[in-house]
Amino acid sequence: MTNISTPTTLAQLVARSRKLGADRSIANWGGGNTSAKAEEVDFRGRPARILWVKGSGSDLATVTEASFTGLYLEDVLPLLERERMSDSEMVDYLAHCFYEPGRPRPSIETLLHGFLPFPHVDHTHADATNYFACAEGGEAQARDCFGDELIWIPYRRPGFGLAREVALAVRANPRAKLVILAKHGLITWGETDETCYASTISTIAQARDFVEERIARAGRAVFGGFRVTTLSAEERRTIAAQVAPVLRGLVSEEKRQILRFEDGDDALTFANSQDAPRLTKIGAACPDHLVHTKPWPLLVDWMPGQDGEALAASLRAGVTAYVANYRRYLEANERQNLDPDAAAPIYRASDAISDPHPRVTLIPGVGMFTTGKDAMMADVSAQLYHRAIAVMRGAEACGGFISLSDAESYAVEYWPLEQYKLKMAPPEREFARHVVLVTGAAGGIGSATCRRVAQDGAHIVATDIDLAGAEQLAAYLNQHFGAGRAIAVKMDVTNEESVRAAFEQAALAFGGIDVIVNNAGLASSASITETSLAQWNKNWNVLATGYFLVSREGFRFLQAQARGGNLVFIASKNALVAGKNAAAYSTAKAAEAHLARCLAEEGGQFGIRVNTVNPDAVLAGSRIWDSSWRQERAATYGVAPDQLEEVYRKRTTLGVNILPEDIAEAVAFFASPTRSVKSTGNILNVDGGVAAAYPR
Ligand SMILES: [Zn+2]
Repeated sequence: MTNISTPTTLAQLVARSRKLGADRSIANWGGGNTSAKAEEVDFRGRPARILWVKGSGSDLATVTEASFTGLYLEDVLPLLERERMSDSEMVDYLAHCFYEPGRPRPSIETLLHGFLPFPHVDHTHADATNYFACAEGGEAQARDCFGDELIWIPYRRPGFGLAREVALAVRANPRAKLVILAKHGLITWGETDETCYASTISTIAQARDFVEERIARAGRAVFGGFRVTTLSAEERRTIAAQVAPVLRGLVSEEKRQILRFEDGDDALTFANSQDAPRLTKIGAACPDHLVHTKPWPLLVDWMPGQDGEALAASLRAGVTAYVANYRRYLEANERQNLDPDAAAPIYRASDAISDPHPRVTLIPGVGMFTTGKDAMMADVSAQLYHRAIAVMRGAEACGGFISLSDAESYAVEYWPLEQYKLKMAPPEREFARHVVLVTGAAGGIGSATCRRVAQDGAHIVATDIDLAGAEQLAAYLNQHFGAGRAIAVKMDVTNEESVRAAFEQAALAFGGIDVIVNNAGLASSASITETSLAQWNKNWNVLATGYFLVSREGFRFLQAQARGGNLVFIASKNALVAGKNAAAYSTAKAAEAHLARCLAEEGGQFGIRVNTVNPDAVLAGSRIWDSSWRQERAATYGVAPDQLEEVYRKRTTLGVNILPEDIAEAVAFFASPTRSVKSTGNILNVDGGVAAAYPR
């Protein structure tokens, strides 16, 4: 007989949470939480009623059993007798209620779940119910939709007070089937896992149908219709790429930011609309957007038809005005008590982490830029702003979009526990917030360099004439270091247009570049009498002209970004020392190395450093060695050409076992935003300890 075990309460809860999280119009990124109450057996072997509730720091779409915290309900419920409790008292208290140690910290919304007398509870920030929650007079509209099954709770900051207010209201109203928290979200419940899920879904559908019907009946154009017409897809990309480094420079004044660009329909419809100038001044559509979007986006004052220079000027003026306004908001609210549930007032810490720059920038006719400490967080800002656009659309049909007051926004943005989380975060890695563009990235040194800096937090633009090779590398980097961390771009360094287009792609992917590793190469050997003109020209095209073209585009880009920058050239021992049978290669390498020193002279005034790494004979994984050179070296060691790498890796004699990783380490030193900041125009030989001046 097969024993079919029923899924545990926790397993069911995980599955339900993931189903809710799979639809971002129900559960926005990181927002909302779910719970279930179950009879469990504790470590002493005694039965206990446990509240399983999603802990802090996870997203419903990707939760696992480990994302949930179990709390003894018999310890939680007595709190309902209290009149007030501060956030930190609540956090300390709940730490004593753990059913199993080592589980995530309970979120500030834990007691919303614990105090409700239902076995299963969902709290979401669904768009459709937020149409009411974020509308002027939304309560009456919601009442029309839900009748007396609705409990409406006026806005109150999440915490003990809100949880208690909801619990008392639900106890006093046995007919209630849902709670709408004004300017915040929805609470639904059920006796079983299935009925809870069904109630959440049907409540949201009912709100959506009600409001969509109202929108259709009003017949008003979305957001009042267009104020500007949109540019073509190609024009949008061109101008966005042109101004991305300018914007990135502006918003990176305190800390470097990674930018994300998009020009999807809803972002453009909103940015182009008649109502956008009014709606963008109102505030966030949900408290938990605030940390990722700030209360307001920057709507840039620019009209399609004006040029990129005019847009850059508007961005400068717009960011300056935004920062001034944000600082006024900080000053106006800094004496505010951040925890009304605390016995004594709590103010913002003097060392609170704040950055006054916009996280969301809307450019009419062009699209939307969002920022974050990495590509993932820039994406989160964008996702949340999509939710805001959806909520604004519905709320406008329900009486007009409203948001938290400045004081309410401030209390959420500078909530002490959120600040505590920021301060407790592990220190950022060396290349965090930096974008590194590498040419010849598919080769041995190129790919080792990408891996080396990606491991320490860099975002990578892997360029190569071999696009498939670059794509393979980017896939590896995204898999190992996080989605969105690397892109692959085809670049022929000898072609002006190809170089320009590659920088454009980098601008659209990350907003900018901080480090350029000029690495694309080739090698050939031939005596002077055997060197063809084509061979000579090819060496000079790639190693001299190619490095010039990439550097010129890089300098233009870095100057537009105005945050300094860093170029690292991969030259060769042959740039310094004469090599027999390699005149074309060695002279072109010498030109390249001298170009680096010339650019170091020019770059200083812009904060751009230019340094050179000279590898000696790196064969492992290298693509640059052509067969004649390889055969000649192989003959020296008496092995077949394809055994050369193995010989080189095994030999421990200095000078003959240099690996691509050794070169990558030297590149990382020069590329570092901390370790070599006061060095430019230098050459670092990686010669295995045999000085480059003494060729073997
Ligand atoms: Zn919430």
